[in-house]
Amino acid sequence: MLNRRRFLTLSSLTALSPDLFALSPDRAAPAPLVVSTWNQPKANAAAEAVLKQGKRALDAVEAGVRVPEADPNDTSVGYGGLPDRDGRVTLDACIMDEKGNAGSVTYLENIMHPISVARAVMEKTPHVMLSGEGALAFALSQGFKKEKLLTASSEKAWREWLKTAKYEPKVNIERHDTIGMLAIDSKGDLSGACTTSGLAYKMNGRVGDSPIIGAGLFVDNEIGGACATGLGELVMRTCGSFLVVELMRQGRTPQQACEEAAKRIVGKQEYKDIQVGFLAVNRQGQVGAYSIQPGFNYTVSQNGLTQVLEAKSFLNK
Ligand code: ASP
Repeated sequence: MLNRRRFLTLSSLTALSPDLFALSPDRAAPAPLVVSTWNQPKANAAAEAVLKQGKRALDAVEAGVRVPEADPNDTSVGYGGLPDRDGRVTLDACIMDEKGNAGSVTYLENIMHPISVARAVMEKTPHVMLSGEGALAFALSQGFKKEKLLTASSEKAWREWLKTAKYEPKVNIERHDTIGMLAIDSKGDLSGACTTSGLAYKMNGRVGDSPIIGAGLFVDNEIGGACATGLGELVMRTCGSFLVVELMRQGRTPQQACEEAAKRIVGKQEYKDIQVGFLAVNRQGQVGAYSIQPGFNYTVSQNGLTQVLEAKSFLNK
C-alpha cells in the first residue's frame, strides 16, 4: 500500500505550486475546484464530472468520496478498510453544505457508503449525527444495503497484527488516508465531505475526528472550508478544521491558516511520531495544505488539470 502510494505520488508530483489555482483578482468567483486529502485523482475526477453538470458542490463531494469508499484496495476508507482490534470495520463520515447544514455518522458498520448516509442524516432527519446501531437502522430504513466490508486482505493484515496485538495509538503516515474533500461549484458555493474507517486496529468504539463537524471537516460558505487527516485525537482536541476556517476569517490565507493550526498542535502535544495534515480552500479558490510530518499529499483539480502535490510540513525530510 505504502509503496504503491509513494510511487503514484512521486510519479505525479510536479513543481507546480498550489498558488496556480488561486483566484485571479479580477474574477468574481473561482472556476469550479475540487481538493482532497492524499492521492485521490479518481475521486477528484468523479467530483469534477458532477460539477461539470452544473450541480452543487455538495453533490460533487458526495460523488467524489464514494470512489475510495467503494475501493477494496483503499484500506482506510469504507470497503476494505482495516478493522478495529476486534476485527470490526467501523466507519465514520460527515458532510457539510453551503448553507451550514451538516450530517454525520459514527461507528457505522456494514454500509459501503457512509457519506451518503451522513447526507441522509443531514437532509432527512432533524439531527446532525447518528451513531452505531441507530445509524445502521436509519441507513437500512433509507434503502442502503448491508454488506460485508472486511476484505480477505484486510482480514489477513488484522490477523497478522493480532500476533503481537501491540496497541499503539500513534499513527504513522502509512495507516491513514482518510479522504477529506472540499469543492467549489459554478455558483461559487462550497461544500465538504470526510470519510474514513479510522485508525487501523483502534479500540472498539473509538471514534476519531473525521465525522466531527469542526474537527475533521468544517465549511463556512462566506469564508472557506477545511478538512483534516492524521491522528484524530489531536485534531479533535484542537477543533482543527474549525480553527483553520476561523483563522481564514481573521485574514489568513488557507496556507497560513493550515500552518498555524498544525503548529498549535505541535506546541501542545508530543508530535514526533504522529501525523496531522490540514487542507483548506477559501471562497476565492486559494488552496493551502500543511502537515506535521513530511509525506502528506493532496490532490487539486481545476480547469481539467489535476495535480498531486506534497504539502509543506513542520518537520523536514
Ligand atoms: N483522522 C482519522 C482518524 O483519526 C485517521 C486518518 O486520517 O486516516 O480516524
